Amino acid sequence: MKCSEGENFTHGRLSRYGNIELSPAASVLNYGQGLLEGIKALRGENGQLCLFRPEQNAVRMQIGAERLCMPAPSTEQFVDAVKEIAVANRRWIPPTGKGSLYIRPLLLGCGARLGLAPSPEYTFVIYASPVGNYFKEGVAPLNLYVEDEYHRASRGGAGCVKAITNYSPVLKAQAKAKCRGFSDVLFLDSSNKTYIEEASSSNIFIVKDNVISTPAPTGTILEGITRKSIIEIARDLGYQVDERGVRVDELDDADEVFSTGTAVGVAAVGSITYRDKRVNYNMDGQLVSQKLYSALVGIQRGAVEDKRGWIVKI
Ligand code: PMP
Repeated sequence: MKCSEGENFTHGRLSRYGNIELSPAASVLNYGQGLLEGIKALRGENGQLCLFRPEQNAVRMQIGAERLCMPAPSTEQFVDAVKEIAVANRRWIPPTGKGSLYIRPLLLGCGARLGLAPSPEYTFVIYASPVGNYFKEGVAPLNLYVEDEYHRASRGGAGCVKAITNYSPVLKAQAKAKCRGFSDVLFLDSSNKTYIEEASSSNIFIVKDNVISTPAPTGTILEGITRKSIIEIARDLGYQVDERGVRVDELDDADEVFSTGTAVGVAAVGSITYRDKRVNYNMDGQLVSQKLYSALVGIQRGAVEDKRGWIVKI
């Protein structure tokens, strides 16, 4: 789908996966005027194709577009296009529980403009790929490395939207963690280095005495759709969930730590290392994250009642 400055998106077309042509002066290449989204299409228990809350991705893209001075597709255009991609690629969507089709919508400032200003033209494009488990350990616990040298976002920046420019600062931190044998990075707030924020592409939760806490959005973390859903599911199950500043030293005596995201679902954390001190979590007692994982996956696969209408069946 394409759109010029000050206009609305027109209906797009489906084509074979291929490269897109860009001017070297395109705003997205020079100034990073671009947004991304991530959605999974999977098969429910009866083999039906399902999407999980795709309208939330549409709304998040609209909020991001406002932040980056871009026009955005309407919720209906976004969801229809995602459905069309899922249907066109249905043969790549594995049976229930065996993986999914990862759908990646992009909104890009593709027009050429030398000076720093919003692009004169925009492209909304979606590509897709079948995927298995996000982490190579599969369902094995994650080992996180707390990063206090590099940050992914600061207050007033674009950390709270899914801007493509949020991800390049993560690469160095992620490489450092991976080269030391960790699964992922856990970022700290850039002002005080006191509060935990999020991992490279998932949100973080801790459990202490059956109370669940997760960093409150302060403009630097991405408010994940899985995060939002897990908060609702946990409250339905009777847990107290607090969105607040979570100090890094609270990791020392947490009963459980887990991360959430479209790619990971709910992933239990087995250890966290901060300034060469490693805290291990008892993997036999991960009752809360296990319960939340089962409830989320149950809804996504159609085994648990979808009382909020989160699943879009295609
Ligand atoms: N934080 C970041 C930085 C992310 O890239 C993602 C993945 N979109 C998340 C959190 C989790 O968001 P969601 O649950 O919507 O996938």
